[in-house]
Order: sequence, then structure tokens, then C-alpha cells
Amino acid sequence: MTPETLLKTKFGYDQFRSGQKEVIDDLLAGQNVLTIMPTGGGKSLCYQIPAMLMAGVTLVVSPLISLMKDQVDALNDNDIPATFINSTLDYSEMRDRFEVLQAGRIKLLYVSPERLDSEAFDQLATLPIDLVAIDEAHCISQWGHDFRPSYLTLTDNLKRLPSQPTVVALTATATPQVARDIKQRLGINNEVKTGFERDNLAFKVVKDQDSDRYLLDYVRLNADQAGIIYASTRKEVERVYHLLKKHHVKVALYHGGLSKEERQANQDDFLYDRASVMVATNAFGMGIDKSNVRFVIHDQVPGSLEAYYQEAGRAGRDGLPSEAILLFKLADVAIQHFLIDQSERDEAGKKREYEKLQLMSQYANTEECLQTFILSYFGDVGEACGRCSNCLDTRELQDITVDTQKVLSCVRRMNERFGKGLVAQVLVGSQVARIKQFQFDRLSTYGLMKGQSQKAVVGLIDYLTAAGYLQASGGQYPTLRVSALGLEVLQGQQQVFRKTALKATKSLPVNDA
Ligand code: ADP
Repeated sequence: MTPETLLKTKFGYDQFRSGQKEVIDDLLAGQNVLTIMPTGGGKSLCYQIPAMLMAGVTLVVSPLISLMKDQVDALNDNDIPATFINSTLDYSEMRDRFEVLQAGRIKLLYVSPERLDSEAFDQLATLPIDLVAIDEAHCISQWGHDFRPSYLTLTDNLKRLPSQPTVVALTATATPQVARDIKQRLGINNEVKTGFERDNLAFKVVKDQDSDRYLLDYVRLNADQAGIIYASTRKEVERVYHLLKKHHVKVALYHGGLSKEERQANQDDFLYDRASVMVATNAFGMGIDKSNVRFVIHDQVPGSLEAYYQEAGRAGRDGLPSEAILLFKLADVAIQHFLIDQSERDEAGKKREYEKLQLMSQYANTEECLQTFILSYFGDVGEACGRCSNCLDTRELQDITVDTQKVLSCVRRMNERFGKGLVAQVLVGSQVARIKQFQFDRLSTYGLMKGQSQKAVVGLIDYLTAAGYLQASGGQYPTLRVSALGLEVLQGQQQVFRKTALKATKSLPVNDA
């Protein structure tokens, strides 16, 4: 049997998709491979076909317990002997399965990483394991966005398998750094990476708008379409869910605070189109295979671009045009700050998370193509997509270097100890008491932007903060500091551009007298 005949006879497909054949050939030649393919790219076949061509067992490590049974059932339907071992089984079921495995009747064994403690490995060590496939392999890396300690134990245990199996690691999201980490930990030299670009997805950033209004209008305009709305907290999920429900949207909700039964029922409502919109935290989606999701809206900014791309990527798996929209508000960045602060990470871990979050702000404020911005983060190149909100924004770039310098120098003169509100008030020459109290009306930057509205100046500060010229730090009311990049602007070494977000000012009435 060749891989091609198996593809046709067992799976009913005529051709391999990009990258699949390369991975299969490498594995059959005993070469370890890291496979980076977008969601829906067809990663499973990359190990399922070699599994059938190898003499022994293929161990598939997957964190998606809910999906395991479906995958095993699908394989069994195709007469491919497969089984799974995870926490849903009781002891006697486990024992039965091991017996079947020992008898050499199984080709693919799916296991969850949590299950793979040392004891389980002692049992596995008695099996002729030829291939180990590690799904969602980014979970191995501390640089990945979904690091799981159980994956680290796994890599150590794998080394103890006497059969010295070939290893394939698979993921849809790996920055060059994460890819290096995975390869190093698993002893992999080869990498097969297919294009990250999702050419049916239109990315969109919507800044500083009334999210509720936006969501209601959007859902109304796309009434019959399936979509997911992500929020950062359970509370916000509940709030948005009730808002949409009140407006007669067929909506379901999903978060970690619901019972297992409720989550299953709600998920099914969405999968089987009884609810068109799912409002959820990031607990929803891993392993959900709903192909006709037309939009993914992030009501609140997620913690990293990896998480964003993975969640947004759940739109349009059927290849039809779909939208991925980020509703960006600085207040939501503060929520992510809070979540990082509260997490059990060590200081270095928190620092990494803050850096990832900062990148989300840059994504929201970049004026280059959004798809290109994402691709370059993952170490890929791409041409401007022509579909995203930046590509479609035809406004001319304006040089805002001078205004930027005014803002930055004002922040410096206020000794970098205040937030954006007061900085904006000083710049527009406000008379509020605090300004007198600190004698900021004596600063040379006081009133430097007279005539602009305070709101417009705050908008500019937000833009400069998110774009990295200013840094905001500290709890609920962050204080502003000029960044290294900002200093270059002050020294005249950097120009700053922005497609003006301000409404054009009215031209003065013509005096026709
Ligand atoms: P991933 O794990 O990369 O997200 P899957 O392995 O679940 O993707 O595959 C996504 C879909 O593509 C599945 O329905 C699968 O059957 C289908 N598929 C995989 N390979 C091919 C192929 N060569 N030709 C056609 N369809 C394929």
C-alpha cells in the first residue's frame, strides 16, 4: 500500500493537501518532524496514514478529550483500528483496552497528556510504539500561549520508551521561537510549514466604539449567520448573552463556570444551528469542528496574538469568506493586565504575558495590513491581503510627528507620574483645579494643543500608547512614560504617521461680503 492508495481508499480523497505528503514521507523514513499547518489544514492525516503503514502502534497525544472519541469513532468507521485512553474511562475499561493493545489489534492509541504519568508509561513501554504524534504541540513551550506542564513531563517520559519511536509534533500556532523550542525539546530537525495565510478571512479592528451597539447591529445585519463572540470574563459573557437574548437573537453561551451538562448542551445548540451566535470565553472552541462559522468577534481583546489568531481562525473553515473582528478598547487591556496579575505565573512568566499583550495593542493600532502583521509575527511573509480593515482604509497617511512631540514632551515635563486624562487637560489648557494644584499651568506645554478637544487628545495618547511611543503602567489608573521609541521621536530621529482618526474640522465660513 502506498500513502496515495490509502488516501483514496480509506479517506476518499484524491490529492494530498499542501505539506501532507512531505510529512508522511519524512515519518516513513524515520525522520522526526515538526508540522505547522493552519487549523483545518489537515494535520490528522499526516500521522494517520503513516500509522497504517507502520508495523506497530502510533501513540497520539492530544489535550482535546472531547474530540478524542469522535476521532476514534471516525477511524473505526473507516475500518482503522483505534482506541483512546483518558480520564473519562474507569479502571476496568482501561485494563480492557490495554489488553486489546497488547494483543496487537490497535494501530492508533489516543491519550491525553494528563494521563501519561510515569505509571502509564511503564505500561506503554511494553507496546511496540513506532510513532508518537503530539497534537497542539505549542503547549510544550513556555513561549507558547497555552503552556501545559503535563506536556513537559511528557517529553521526559517519551525518552524512556524502549522502541525509540519517530516523533511528529503538530500545531497551528507557532512563532519561530516556539518552533525552535518544540524542536529542541523533542529532538526534531525537520520542519514542514504550510502557509499561515487564511485567504478567506477578512480581519477588522474596530476601535473605541460602543461595543454593545456594534454587536447588536452586526448580529442583526448577519441574522442567519453562525458566529462566535469572545469575551475575557464569565461575567462579560453572561452580560453580552443576556443583551443579545433580550434582542431576540438565537444565542448560546459557554464558559468554565457552567456545569459540564450545560456546556455540552449549549455547544450542541451551536453546532447543530439551533443557536446562531455563541458568546463564550476562550474555554470554547478548542477542537470544535464547525465549518460554517461566518464571523468571530472579540468583544474584548485577548491576551496574545497567538490566542487571537487561533480563535479568529475558527471562522470560515469551509473556505467561504468570513470576518474576524476585534473590538478594541483600552479598558479591556486593563482587564487582561488584571488577569495576568492574578495568575499564578512567576515574575518572568508575567513579563512574557505583558509583552504578548502589548503586541495585541500594536495589532489594534497598526496601519499595515492586519493579515501581514500576523504573518510576520509567525515568521511568515505575505502580501497585503486587500481584505482587512487597514487595506480597505483608503485615507491618506498624515505626518503627526509634531503633535506626537507635543504629547511626549508634556508627559516628560509632568515627570512621567500622571495618566492620560491629566496630560490631555494640560495640553488643551484646561482650567481644572488639579492643574493649578500641581502648577502645571506654568509648564511650557500647557495649552500647546488649545483648540483640540480633550477627547481627541486622549485618542491620540491612546494611539501613541498602543503603538509603543508611550508606556502605560500601574493598576487601574496607569501613568504614562515615554518609551525608547518615543525618545527617538523627541530627538527627531523617528517620524510618526497616522491615518487621521479625527473628523475633518469644518472649514471656516467664507466671507462673501
Ligand atoms: P487540522 O487538524 O489541521 O485542523 P484536520 O486534520 O481536522 O485539520 O482536517 C480538516 C479537514 O480536512 C477534515 O475534514 C479532513 O478530513 C479534511 N482533509 C484532510 N486532508 C485532506 C485532503 N488531502 N483532501 C481533502 N480533505 C482533506
